[in-house]
Order: sequence, then structure tokens, then C-alpha cells
Amino acid sequence: LTKRLQDAMGKLRRKGKVSENDVKEMMREIRLALLEADVALPVVKEFTKAVRERAVGVEVLENLNPAQQIVKIVDEELTKTLGGETVGLNKSEKIPTIIMMSGLQGAGKTTFAGKLANKLIKEENARPLLIAADVYRPAAIDQLKTLGKQLDVPVFDMGTDTSPVEIVRNGLLLAREKKNDYVLIDTAGRLHIDETLMNELKDIKALANPDEILLVVDAMTGQDAVNVAASFNEALGITGVIITKLDGDTRGGAALSIRQVTGAPIKFTGTGEKLTDLEVFHPDRMSGRILGMGDMLTLIEKAQQDFDEKKAEEMAQKMRENTFDFNDFMEQLDQMNNMGPIEDLLKMIPGMSSMPGIDQVKVDPKDMARKRAMVLSMTPEERENPELLNPSRRRRIAAGSGNSVVEVNKMIKNFNEAKKMMSLMSKGEMNKIPGMDQL
Ligand code: GDP
Ligand code: MG
Repeated sequence: LTKRLQDAMGKLRRKGKVSENDVKEMMREIRLALLEADVALPVVKEFTKAVRERAVGVEVLENLNPAQQIVKIVDEELTKTLGGETVGLNKSEKIPTIIMMSGLQGAGKTTFAGKLANKLIKEENARPLLIAADVYRPAAIDQLKTLGKQLDVPVFDMGTDTSPVEIVRNGLLLAREKKNDYVLIDTAGRLHIDETLMNELKDIKALANPDEILLVVDAMTGQDAVNVAASFNEALGITGVIITKLDGDTRGGAALSIRQVTGAPIKFTGTGEKLTDLEVFHPDRMSGRILGMGDMLTLIEKAQQDFDEKKAEEMAQKMRENTFDFNDFMEQLDQMNNMGPIEDLLKMIPGMSSMPGIDQVKVDPKDMARKRAMVLSMTPEERENPELLNPSRRRRIAAGSGNSVVEVNKMIKNFNEAKKMMSLMSKGEMNKIPGMDQL
């Protein structure tokens, strides 16, 4: 947590909704954080615009202040932009799965090829073949051969006098003959993007028709990441991204830039020079790293947990005291809305999935909205004292919420059932709840 950020947060008062001003003030800090993490400027602009739109007017969770609430939103959006979920390798239906490396010189292509071979051997007992198609530096071939020896994996090479395409053609023939299940093609890079390199890579792609074209990028690539990613993607149509050297102290904003520009999933990260320094990419962890607000994110998570616990405890207390009223009923409706389909939730309770009739449980969101409207049409006194609801009040509520009296009566019956059930549950008399004895 930077000092500036802390100051900015200190200035914000505790309040219910995120105002435009809160967002403006916080977004300045978020922009700085992203730029400090080396996210490319156009990407920062686009990203912050999207977040700004989402953040204004959002309700602030209890225990959080508006600044924290905005960071929470930024973190969620960042995670989403980075891909949301972990994505594995594309695999071919019949062997071999062909994986081609691409990227600038020094990005870590050769090292990654070794790491990936190691991982495939360890996890799948695979029999990969490495192809040495970087013919510009004799050292490059030696480097791959050394890795091959360490891993006990065959490395196909034809020295430096044959064209890369020719090498790949022969390498693939060998792999088919030897029934290798993976072929990893190590290619050359340049210090900068140039035509010759791109044409060479295009030719290899055309010949090999790879299942996976991975762009390997050094995490320290700063503002240039956008150009690099766009050029390689335009020429090759990359299918995945590897971010290397995340063991350094860079915050790795390149990941966001590349993801935004190419749309291709980030699949692995390199975290050191050793063959085992390879990790599956996790968007949520990367988001925290890019934001550099680890301690604030932890705080937010904690606040959210406390909030949920407090709510649950309050509800339990209400049950014990049997003071469950329409305000609680509405809160339950809202919580259900936040939690997703109630039928999924019920199935997560041990034993519930085998309960007769559980498959028929369906909660219609429209029905929930209707109930909510009816509760909103009640006066505060009526919500706290349900026994006040005589026929004339019920008629008023029906008219006020645009429903029939029959529907109001049904909703009140629902409420009374819920109340009764909760009271039984709180007394530990679960067996008196209809259907429960059959569990
Ligand atoms: P290539 O030119 O793209 O094939 O890059 P290399 O695989 O030869 O890697 C260039 C340098 O970066 C080598 O010294 C590697 O040891 C180093 N390197 C590669 N990946 C990582 C990584 O994840 N972390 C660190 N610290 N170094 C790495
Ligand atoms: Mg190399």
C-alpha cells in the first residue's frame, strides 16, 4: 500500500454509495498503480474507463470505505480482463501435439521449451521431441541440447546451415516415426520485431500447423509489450501467452497489456531459471500483483468475511428470539439474489441432493421480484409487526405493488412458513420440518 494511496483513502469519509468524486480521486491512484506496474498507457486508459463506469453509484459494503470498494471492483475487473480462469494447453486429438514458440530474443523461449517438456514428462509421462529451429546462433542449439540431456529428451537439430522450415519438416517426420506425443519447436528471436523473423515464423506455422502457438514475453517488457504482442499476433495468430521472469521484482503489467491486445489466454509463468520454475497462470494472483495493493486486498477480503459472518449471526439471533419479520424476509430475498439460484445452493447442503422432490425446487427470479415489491409496499410498522396485516391492509399492499390480493396472501403464507421453519431450526427441531424426516 503506497503512502499516496493511504492519504487518498484517509480523505474519503465513510458513506453508503460511491460518488463520482470518490471514483475520480481513486482512479487517479489506480492509473498510477497500473503505470508503475508497466501496463501500457492505451491499455490503462481503456481499462480505467470501463471500471469508472462500473464503479459510480455502487453501494459500499459495510466495513469498507468507498476507496476500498473501488479497489475491490478494480481487482475484480482486472482478474476478469486477465482471463478469469486458468487455461490449459491445447492438445491435438492424435499425436503429436505440436507446440511452437515465438517471441523476442532473450524472452525465455528455449528455457520455457525445457520447462514445458519437464512438466509434460512429470505429469503425463509424455515423450516429447524438441526441435532446434534457431539457426542464427550455434549457442542456441547447444543450449537446447544441454536441456535435452538434463531431461533425457531427444533434441532434433540439423546444425546452422539448413533453413528453419526444412529443420521443422524433418523433425516432424522423425516425431511421427518415433511416435512422440509432443513436439516443441524452439524458434529464433530478434532483439526487435522485423520482417525476416516474422516471415520465417509464418513459414514454420504454415508447414507445421501447430496446435499451440505460444508467445513468450519477458515480464519486464514495459510499454513495448503492446507492440510486441500486436505484431506477433497479427503475423501468427497466437493461441497462448507465457510470461517469464516473474521472479524479478516487476509487477508484471505486461500481462494485462498483452491480454488486452491479443485476447489470447496467458497459460504459464516462468519464475526462475531452473527447469521446475514454471507455474500455471492464475488471473486473481496476477491482478493483486499488478495492483500492488496486496495488503488492501487482504483487508477487503477480511472485511467481506466479517460482514457475511455478522449477517449470519444476526439472522441466527433473530431465529432464536423468534423476531423474524418482513425486513429479514426481504434481506433473505436479497441474499438469495446475490447467491445465485437457490436450487444450486440447496444441492450444496449435505444430504439435500437426495431429498425427494429437490429437483422440483425452482425459484423464479420474477417471483422473487414480485415478493420484494409487495414487501416494499408495506409500511415500516407492518414490516416489523406482520400481525398488523388485516384484509384492508392487504388490499392496499396489493394495489400498491400491482398484484392481486391472492398473491399477497400467498406471499404472507410463504413468510409465515419461513418463520416457522426458522424457529424450528433454531430450536434444533429439524425433524418437525415437513420432509426432513425422510433425509
Ligand atoms: P530465448 O532467447 O527466448 O530462447 O531466451 P532463453 O530461454 O535463452 O532465456 C534468456 C535468459 O533468461 C536466460 O539466461 C534464462 O536463464 C533466463 N530466463 C528464462 N526464463 C526465466 C525466468 O522465468 N526467470 C528468470 N529469472 N530467468 C529466466
Ligand atoms: Mg532461444
